[in-house]
Amino acid sequence: MILGAVAQRESTAFATQGLWVRFPSAPLSKRRLVASIEPELHRSKIEAILQRVGLEDCEVLIVDSPEEWARQHGVKRDLPFVSAIAGLVDGRPVVVLQRKITSDTQSRVLDGMVVRGVELEGFPAEVETLEDPSAYLEHLVLHEAAHLILPDGATELQCDQWAFERMSV
Ligand SMILES: [Zn+2]
Repeated sequence: MILGAVAQRESTAFATQGLWVRFPSAPLSKRRLVASIEPELHRSKIEAILQRVGLEDCEVLIVDSPEEWARQHGVKRDLPFVSAIAGLVDGRPVVVLQRKITSDTQSRVLDGMVVRGVELEGFPAEVETLEDPSAYLEHLVLHEAAHLILPDGATELQCDQWAFERMSV
């Protein structure tokens, strides 16, 4: 049962599309990402990241479709795609990650991050560092941790910033 607010890492394609006219210089579809990320191969690293920010009791679930997981757990969402979700299940924090995060997904998420952070100096440059799959995964996990740690109502941008401030590299 979901007891707390459930946050989700959404596809940014729709938002990006909507902002395309306003930010035509956003570097869409020019990313150098080629490798998929398989979180299961990095489970100990993921758990270490969560411990580092004080989520020692956080469960890490790796599923084919976080979207399906959300549906099965009665989480309402109106976005067409998620690759990670954080929430409380029976009072316990859970981070749900997609089993295979493709390079296409990574590109779309990073493009959306640039659009969200476009008014903040330096933010787009930080986003480029996430083209490294290891950094991408660390930021993704920290972003979901932010949804569990920051007060309800924290924005995607606030969660992104919180995560950037806690990157190990
Ligand atoms: Zn989020």
